[in-house]
Amino acid sequence: MTQIHSLMPGSAPLLGERPDRREARDAYWHAGGYRDLSPDLLVNRIKAAGLRGRGGAGFPAAAKLLAVRAAGSVPVVVANGGEGEPGSVKDRWLMRARPHLVLDGMLRAADITRAARCYVYVADDEAAESMRRALAEREPYVPTQIVRVAHTYVAGEETAVVRRINGGPALPTAKPPRPFESGVDGVPTLVANVETLARIALLAARPQTPDSLLLTVSGPGLEPELVEAPVGTSLQALAYRADRLGTPGVLMGGMFGGILDPRGLRTELEAAALTAAGSALGCGAVHFLAPGECPVALAAEGLAFLADESSRQCGVCVTGTAALARTMASAVHGTAEPDDLARLSKWSQSLRRRGACGLLDAAANLAASLLRSFGPLTEAHIEGRSPCCLSDRLLEADRFRVAPPTVFAISQPISAPR
Ligand code: SF4
Repeated sequence: MTQIHSLMPGSAPLLGERPDRREARDAYWHAGGYRDLSPDLLVNRIKAAGLRGRGGAGFPAAAKLLAVRAAGSVPVVVANGGEGEPGSVKDRWLMRARPHLVLDGMLRAADITRAARCYVYVADDEAAESMRRALAEREPYVPTQIVRVAHTYVAGEETAVVRRINGGPALPTAKPPRPFESGVDGVPTLVANVETLARIALLAARPQTPDSLLLTVSGPGLEPELVEAPVGTSLQALAYRADRLGTPGVLMGGMFGGILDPRGLRTELEAAALTAAGSALGCGAVHFLAPGECPVALAAEGLAFLADESSRQCGVCVTGTAALARTMASAVHGTAEPDDLARLSKWSQSLRRRGACGLLDAAANLAASLLRSFGPLTEAHIEGRSPCCLSDRLLEADRFRVAPPTVFAISQPISAPR
């Protein structure tokens, strides 16, 4: 069962007082939520805090808000809780346990962008029910609709979100236009991750709220954890907690941040440090390999997962992810060809930015990070000199899947909105 833990020196602003219980409107209000604040003052706080998106791309939040506001017509705001990464549970937990924090942040984003409509985009049943109750507990002053979607890897990509809300399938579309230019019903649309919105609400309540991250920590043999940690926490601190200081590697950011070797444990969870390490925070999922596990096998499993999750709309993604997965599987099984190392190296660069969404980039980056961090080991596999992971364990996507922590249902009846 997924546990919840705080590494914050004091209170944990995102986890709140009782992370195992759904927070009702009154409790949120008494803790300082939903208070009036000028949108311009809040934008200044978001800028000063250096808040970046917490869904994957890590784009500066204030710049995104202002781009939507400046785009021309009356915009739309979407609270994106699609959470397609299988190793991440933070968004589902936020909507299940702290729906008013998400709702408050969404309404403040609507104030800043001067939006006329909002949507809550959600795949998880319990999260959808929690958000539905939150909308009943505090009827929002901006018309808000919940949109359900099936849980897939690409469903949370921003153009897939827009396409689904517009009545189509939850599949990405080519860019441009990006949603901030033309999104739901053709108007500028802010698609904001629910943790990003939660942080906006926290900054509205208290400008000095400590900067923190919600992380999902997992790995074979580990009890998964949802952890709130200060920005800048080292991977080493997480590995120490998980008793994985002897890990042979770490898969970062879901599939998005590639594999780091043990030297990467020194990396701090902060945008510049992760970029310097050739990685990324992504959705904040951190997957530690077990001692003795092979990073090449992990990459093969990750690539098999991504090839399976491709939405098969872009030819280059269909062939590219399949080729990467097939070649890496051959390396693991000891059936690779001598040219496969050069092919992997070429594809890991040439496939970048070729697909309509980030899935193909994630696959290319996974291969590139393996070659960068574990080049000799990968070469040994391709040359048949490393039998350590001769395995038919591929396509076990379950190793990446984490179940959200239990959140007990609210016990109080819904009272009239303030
Ligand atoms: S890059 Fe792949 S997953 Fe993304 S839209 Fe194209 S085919 Fe689908």
